[in-house]
Amino acid sequence: MTQTQLNVEQSNATSFDAVTENHLAKHAIQVHKFGGSSLASSQCINRVLEIIKSHCQINDIIVVSANGDTTDHLFSLYQLAQEQLQASLEEQDPRPLEAAVAALSKQQQALITELLNANNAKQLIHSLAADIEQLKAWLTGDLSAHHNNILAFGELWSARLLSALLNEKLCPSNSIDARDFLVIDNEVDCLVDTATSAAQLRQHRQFGKLAVITGYISKDERGHTCTLGRNGSDYSATIVASLVDARNVTLWTDVDGIYSADPRIVPSARKLHRLPNGVAKELGRLGNPVLHAKTLLPLINPLTEHHTHLHVASSFDAQVAGTEIGKFGQIAKQELSVTYLNDLLLAHSESFIGEAANKVRAEFAPICVDDKQGFVVITQAQQKALSQWLASHDTEVKFNPVSIIATVGHKVAERGDIKARFKRSLRSVKPLHLVNSDNSHSVIAILSEPCTPEILNNVHHDMTKDARHIGLVVAGLGNIGQRFLELLPSQLAKVEALENTHLVGLLSSKKALINNDGIDVNQALSLFEQDSQGYDNQQLLSWLSHHPYDELIVVDITPSEDFSLLYEQFFQQGIHVIGANKWAASSSTAHYNNLIQQAERHHSIWLGNTTVGAGLPINFAIDDLRHSGDEINQIAGIFSGTLSWLFETYDGSTSFSSLMLDALQQGITEPDPREDLSGRDVQRKLLILARKAGFELSLDDIDCQNLVPEHLQALDTQAFLARADELDEFFADQLARANADNACIRYVARLQATPQDDSANGLKLTAKVSLEVLAKTDAFANLTPCDNIFQISSRWYQDNPLIIRGPGAGRDVTAGGLHSDLVNICQQLASKQNQVKIKGIN
Ligand code: ADP
Ligand code: ASP
Ligand code: MG
Repeated sequence: MTQTQLNVEQSNATSFDAVTENHLAKHAIQVHKFGGSSLASSQCINRVLEIIKSHCQINDIIVVSANGDTTDHLFSLYQLAQEQLQASLEEQDPRPLEAAVAALSKQQQALITELLNANNAKQLIHSLAADIEQLKAWLTGDLSAHHNNILAFGELWSARLLSALLNEKLCPSNSIDARDFLVIDNEVDCLVDTATSAAQLRQHRQFGKLAVITGYISKDERGHTCTLGRNGSDYSATIVASLVDARNVTLWTDVDGIYSADPRIVPSARKLHRLPNGVAKELGRLGNPVLHAKTLLPLINPLTEHHTHLHVASSFDAQVAGTEIGKFGQIAKQELSVTYLNDLLLAHSESFIGEAANKVRAEFAPICVDDKQGFVVITQAQQKALSQWLASHDTEVKFNPVSIIATVGHKVAERGDIKARFKRSLRSVKPLHLVNSDNSHSVIAILSEPCTPEILNNVHHDMTKDARHIGLVVAGLGNIGQRFLELLPSQLAKVEALENTHLVGLLSSKKALINNDGIDVNQALSLFEQDSQGYDNQQLLSWLSHHPYDELIVVDITPSEDFSLLYEQFFQQGIHVIGANKWAASSSTAHYNNLIQQAERHHSIWLGNTTVGAGLPINFAIDDLRHSGDEINQIAGIFSGTLSWLFETYDGSTSFSSLMLDALQQGITEPDPREDLSGRDVQRKLLILARKAGFELSLDDIDCQNLVPEHLQALDTQAFLARADELDEFFADQLARANADNACIRYVARLQATPQDDSANGLKLTAKVSLEVLAKTDAFANLTPCDNIFQISSRWYQDNPLIIRGPGAGRDVTAGGLHSDLVNICQQLASKQNQVKIKGIN
């Protein structure tokens, strides 16, 4: 959904017929339908105004339902009036009906006066009063002839009010009664006379005015009012979209998408971010109220199928990405949902066996048909017609009350594993039959009892418990990033926790490849070469805010401080981060604390085990001790693979500088070895571990000995390398002194927390990274060159410290460490359940 500002300047009102092709081509039309729940109160309607302001252009189309539960009110007025008509003279009491009409009128008046200025409100109240008189006349007159005219008032009032409000506050608009253009064959089939309807709609739209059209209602060829059935405004919206060849339809409702089950009954229902057309259609057919059964029909029209996408979004949370319905690839096709319908009838008859069943299919479109055993499931409303139809064929029929529960997903009926799971989930319910839908997008269980919330919850749990889809974005395609990607296919194939993890984004500093349908992990790098495009941070954040996954993980394998500055926004969007990048974890105290807070607030997980010690589980161990109740008071060790190599190897037989240049050649140092010799990297690592251990300190609190003398610090790299021998005297001197004491030199990081004498709970922190003279027997003195060593003293590890030692740098161990973090996050996310937020009238 693109956000564009409403162009309110086009105010010339002419017929749309007069508009040139050229002008129309400027902006592909979007249809926005606001449901009753989104228009239930003046507060809701003001929210709708904001959405129109930010999401619509003047030639878009708005379709509205009746405000709140106005249609229910109108139905109950009709019911009351009917009871009156049927009551005997002495039983008749007009007061309940009068009171109900007055209440409805009052509700409408309240909306009008709360929203419009006095002048405009007066006009609308005047029109309302006339309608109420008409309503009363119909309710007490020729009632049944006006059933649909009575129901039509809801949408009529709603469109009129919204249009008046737009005129007053936002832009020119006109309200259009759909009965002035929309012609259908009859209320049962609701087939649209497209040519006539499109032509008449063109006449009623006015250039420079935003059209607000009544949903739900239409007329037949004789001009009689028809409705499109309960929740029919959704269908109105897609009909209108097909009439004007709109690009997008958005159904704005009170829930931010279509869920894997009715979220009012199943709190653990998951949002379905993308639904393939056929599956959505099946969901509508099997009772999902967000998708009226016919809503998808106009979009699946072969002429428009490729153009019109349907979105479901929440008018209460317009920024949240909702559900998109259209043509999607493999990942969307794996989504499953569970839906149910009560109060149905199972009908057995010989006329439903074999070829003959096709007739009942064509005539009644039953919920399901089994032409081998000869039964169909229909609604109660269809019973009479089916009985008559069968009587005319001279066959007997037997009806039994039933309910259905169905699992719905792309071609589920062809998937043995899913069917077996569905069957198992129904063990205790003992369904009468299990039937595949004709289109294979659902497997329907027929139950002799009503489907209860308990059944729905249990079945939903069993069908979807391990189906949380996780999107993975890898940033940084250097040495380690490439190795991470090389390992990814086999990891995805063998690690159970990664079952629903999909690579969806690859980023270098300049280019991005993003594919919501998943990037083939076996060709990730070549696909990136071929298809990646330039991007900026704004584009990246905007894509990330609309990603279609249950969870998104960004793996930051960049060395970039700039990229680390995006973490805050990642966390604000609930995105999880695995970072090998040290910048964020060693940033200023205020920045770091804010990141931790943001991550907590938005339930984002941030793991960075590889920031220190590559794959060694040092961050993990410290985190674990701390969260298990231990108190760490000392962290020490050799944290730099480069410095480890240099000092383990340096024995004076060759000069320090030639050893350093040798290490540079082997890729053991950074391209400029001063980055290693400066101690800054070790200082950052000590800061990261200290923070993990629960201490609050900043980089400046850690003394850092720079091994590069001042006069060499400002040179460019080449000049420094040319004068590297100027380092030699210092190191030769240090080594000679150590040797004299039978000791050695090592670059060591140390943090010590000692209780303060003068305060009960205060701790004195000393932290430094420096060259130390160590006994040759010291644990830090005997490493395999390049290895890291970490030593932790704590309450539990007091006399004999905990030591972790091993390779602290390298392609394989770092990429492996990142994979370990990935599995860890995916395991945590698998058990995470989001509670669905439903706002509004429900
Ligand atoms: P509107 O007033 O916008 O037309 P409806 O009330 O007709 O909205 O439909 C939206 C309601 O449908 C939501 O409030 C939600 O509780 C309910 N609902 C039932 N099943 C589902 C589902 N599977 N996904 C989303 N919402 C559902
Ligand atoms: N107002 C109608 C109903 O309540 C149509 C709709 O809301 O879609 O069913
Ligand atoms: Mg609805």
